[in-house]
Formats: sequence, C-alpha cells, structure tokens
Amino acid sequence: MTQSCTCKNPECNKPFGVVDQEEKFLAKKELPLPDYCPRCRHKKRMALRNERELYKRPCDNCNNSMLSTTPESAPYKIYCQKCFWENIG
Ligand SMILES: [Zn+2]
Ligand SMILES: [Zn+2]
Repeated sequence: MTQSCTCKNPECNKPFGVVDQEEKFLAKKELPLPDYCPRCRHKKRMALRNERELYKRPCDNCNNSMLSTTPESAPYKIYCQKCFWENIG
C-alpha cells in the first residue's frame, strides 16, 4: 500500500506517494510522514548543502580544529577566526 500525501510547498502542492518501505522506515525512526514531495525535499537539501554545510577541519595556521564552510580538500588556505584577523593586517 502506498500512502498519498500532498506537498506542502505552496508553489508545488503536488500529490506524492510514500511507499510502504519508506513509511516503515519513518515509523521505526518515529518520524512523521514527509511534508514535501521528493522533488522539493531534494531541492531543499541541495539548498541547505550549498549554504550551510560546515566541515570540521584544522586551521592552516595554528592547526586548531574549527568549523568552516570550506572542506579540508580546498586548494587554498583557511584560517580560523583568530588567525584570520591576525593575518589580515
Ligand atoms: Zn513538492
Ligand atoms: Zn588558527
């Protein structure tokens, strides 16, 4: 059986189905049925990823671990707040 839901994004408002497998998974995790259709969920996730994903990485100057929006694999140096201000002037 497939649950049918309606996407809560007013710009979309499309009906979508939640398959048994997904419903069971959500129930097991005590999560509610999704509010948004898979397309909108995917979009939201992408938007979040682009704006806010934080990486734990060491500062390239003092090696203290910090959170940065730039991954450790970035080809340029990333400083922590403190080193950034010390190096800027
Ligand atoms: Zn939608
Ligand atoms: Zn530092």
